[in-house]
Amino acid sequence: MTLFESHEGGYFAEGELVAVLTTQPLGRPLDYKAPEGGCWTGAFVEVPLGPRKVLGVVWGPGAGDFDYDRVRGVSRVIDATPMSSEMRNFIVRAAEYTLTPLPAMLRLAMRAPGLGDPPSMRHVYRLGTGEPDRSTAARERVLNVLRDYGGLAFTLKELADNADVSSSVVKGLVKQGVVLEQASPRDLPFPRLDPDLPGKELSDDQARAVAALSGGLGSGAYATTLLKGVTGSGKTEVYLEAVAACLREGRQALVLLPEIALTAEFLSRVEERFGARPAEWHSGITMTERRRTWRMVAENGAQLVVGARSALFLPYRQLGLIVVDEEHDTSYKQEDGVLYNARDMAVLRASLGGTQVILASATPSLESWANAEAGKYERLELTSRYGVAQLPEMGAIDMRAQKLEAGRWISPALKRAVDARLQAEEQSLLFINRRGYAPVTLCRACGEQIGCDQCDARMVEHRFLKRLMCHQCGETRPMPEKCPSCGVEGRLAAVGPGVERLAEEARATFPDARIAVISSDHFGSARAMKEQIEDIASGGADIVIGTQLVAKGHNFPLLTLVGVIDADLGLQGSDLRAAERTFQLMRQVAGRAGRMEKPGAALLQTHQPEHPVIRAILGGDEEAFWAAEAEERMAAGVPPYGRMAGIVLSSPNVQEVFDLGGEMARNAGPLYAVGAELFGPAPAPIARIRGRHRVRLLVKARKNVPLQRALAQWVEQFRLPSQMRLAIDIDPQSFL
Ligand code: ADP
Ligand code: ZN
Repeated sequence: MTLFESHEGGYFAEGELVAVLTTQPLGRPLDYKAPEGGCWTGAFVEVPLGPRKVLGVVWGPGAGDFDYDRVRGVSRVIDATPMSSEMRNFIVRAAEYTLTPLPAMLRLAMRAPGLGDPPSMRHVYRLGTGEPDRSTAARERVLNVLRDYGGLAFTLKELADNADVSSSVVKGLVKQGVVLEQASPRDLPFPRLDPDLPGKELSDDQARAVAALSGGLGSGAYATTLLKGVTGSGKTEVYLEAVAACLREGRQALVLLPEIALTAEFLSRVEERFGARPAEWHSGITMTERRRTWRMVAENGAQLVVGARSALFLPYRQLGLIVVDEEHDTSYKQEDGVLYNARDMAVLRASLGGTQVILASATPSLESWANAEAGKYERLELTSRYGVAQLPEMGAIDMRAQKLEAGRWISPALKRAVDARLQAEEQSLLFINRRGYAPVTLCRACGEQIGCDQCDARMVEHRFLKRLMCHQCGETRPMPEKCPSCGVEGRLAAVGPGVERLAEEARATFPDARIAVISSDHFGSARAMKEQIEDIASGGADIVIGTQLVAKGHNFPLLTLVGVIDADLGLQGSDLRAAERTFQLMRQVAGRAGRMEKPGAALLQTHQPEHPVIRAILGGDEEAFWAAEAEERMAAGVPPYGRMAGIVLSSPNVQEVFDLGGEMARNAGPLYAVGAELFGPAPAPIARIRGRHRVRLLVKARKNVPLQRALAQWVEQFRLPSQMRLAIDIDPQSFL
């Protein structure tokens, strides 16, 4: 612990009472005696709890409401940088906002593998003196990386990634003594990023945006900027320069991406710009790397982190900038465990620590758009694509006028457009936002639609995996031969299209084309997916068939046509954001076309071309769309102009959920006291998941009422039966 950090919080001498917050569900910090040598506020400690030892954080002075002699001592102080007061503050505020118990929130901030373990040895790799028995291109790349960085040591992954070889190549060189493998007692800092390497020459628009952002970064104050720019306008280039400005200030930066699949491409861009790769934090990294990232973020050994939403809870020392790329993306909302929206929590964290936030999107969420309109966020705009690239021409195919056989989805008009691309040796993308082969498997003998045993949901056929899968609980089973209901054999039929079925149709319709399928079910690893995406980008396919995974951010330079198989899909249902989501998704997916010299086109197959949302997508008058959407939401008093909270009760016992739901509705005084409205209880749209019956209540309130406090007072009144779970979702995104 350095002197600087130790001054941040109070010091407690041995025997003084300290309050320790653990990740155990206890409700409040417990008192312990400070250990020999004392401890500081924020220190990570191990404490006895019943018969066990658990990890926690010294939260402040003890309450002293317990017989001193019976208070137990802190077992030991963990060798890790203490948690900053800003981070403790963030955890408290995030817990209050999301109505999450503090220990559960703390758990997000302590996800460092082996945090409490004694330091173990790790292997690092340096240049040795030997010569390889034979020289290969891969081996040369490894040696060049080591030579380029002088005496620097690398981790195995870092060296392999930098040289673009598998780890076995490095291990082979170790065997021959060409590369030295050494034991190191500590995690390695990440290689330094150099913000002063030359960046790209910026367009005027881009330069203006960078200047505005750099000004904010220099101020050391909090601000949030909505960086809105059409797909391909260079938002990434702009925020990379903001990262550079942040690094020059000596502060750390965090870039959040909505999808791990996008990190590979982004890491290469970081390396190109700053000469080295940043730290990563997402589900695709190893435990060793995870631990290293956590530790180095705390010890200033990581300047830039690229990660998924949970990277927000890393122990930054001096966070200068958070970029939330594709800020409208729904995957920023964590939908199980702690329910939080990483975009909103990024703004919260930033506001507590003098950090700047950039929310980047071509199609911002209405929330962020409204905040910019209201002047709460700054707004920067890039209005044209970089260079000669043009935005795609948008058109509709009226499916009512197209002749299609049953079980076919590619209309003659779309087929002609694809044929023209094949002729011109350009790529087409056929987009359908549905995984699997078909959404419904129907028995033609008895009419049964095969459902999940555990959920109120249909099983989806995945022909690629030769299984039926429940998209709610993930349960799979082999594709049956006979109907599970009536036992008749050979009458099961697929109904409706999924991405796999569309691929099958495309293979039949375009027999000479090379077809690639991109769907999350088709990749064993992030690496396999990265390879396929690179292959497509370099021309390895004529037709790409994909789900929403392709809509996000990928750069396919040869792609000039996007065909949306069912533009109406997202407009069904009663979700309050249905129009917004459809608009965003269609604009995003259309944005994949024409990113280089050749102009692109997007064709939307629709049964309702006069629908206002479809018209807005085609017309491209975004501001008009947002304004109309905003007006409707304002009139209805719903987000972002009103507040909502969803309550889901679930239990294996169906009677209990309805009983408690009813009791909660009858005793909603604390909600009415702040003028909130309560709807429900009603069975949730998916009335059963994993064998638990689900009932929903919905709370609606005006914008500036203390909703969280009212909710807490309301919920406090009820005792939950032992099997019951109650989840409160503040600002719900999903209403299932
Ligand atoms: P966005 O993030 O808005 O979709 P990108 O930053 O990915 O846009 O830029 C789109 C493409 O244009 C990328 O290939 C990028 O490298 C290129 N590009 C953008 N700005 C510049 C620039 N100033 N100089 C050179 N290339 C640029
Ligand atoms: Zn299920």
